[in-house]
Amino acid sequence: MSTPSTTTPPSAQIMCPHLKCRKVLAIPLEARGQVVKCSHCQNLLRVPANMPMPKPKVDAA
Ligand SMILES: [Zn+2]
Repeated sequence: MSTPSTTTPPSAQIMCPHLKCRKVLAIPLEARGQVVKCSHCQNLLRVPANMPMPKPKVDAA
């Protein structure tokens, strides 16, 4: 019936490049091409500028 409006910004998931971390991080699309800090290991990682856009969730059920 009513469509819930989500204000969650689109984000992509990338894996932390640090071998001792390897956590999957949710990176906002705005951070493409920038350097962000991993919230797990506190190391800096570069987000690829051509980060793939995640498919929007569609409730087909
Ligand atoms: Zn990390």
